[in-house]
Amino acid sequence: MPLSEENAPVANAAATPEQASCQTCSGGILAGEVVNTALWEGDRLIVVENIPALVCQQCGERYYEDEVAMVLDMMRGGGFSETSATRVMSVPVFSFRTPGAHASGTDPGGIDASE
Ligand SMILES: [Zn+2]
Repeated sequence: MPLSEENAPVANAAATPEQASCQTCSGGILAGEVVNTALWEGDRLIVVENIPALVCQQCGERYYEDEVAMVLDMMRGGGFSETSATRVMSVPVFSFRTPGAHASGTDPGGIDASE
């Protein structure tokens, strides 16, 4: 008989916006935290501080509320004018190098004490 309640067992699991567990590692607890993020805008590196986010306590995955993501989008749309920046910071930059590779030749050669 085709009149069984086939739809009944499916709970609205996907419809809950405030899922309190991580979807990436499936099981991690999400906790509200204030985080920083960095993103490239063209060839400029932009840092945004004090973003409210939900952070997985197990794998570290971050989730932004729709509203927060929208504000970030708006900030990006505004082009991150430096006049509205809270502060300007300088960061160390590293060049990727395979660990264990010979470092010879990368020294600028300014100091040569052996001669
Ligand atoms: Zn997780």
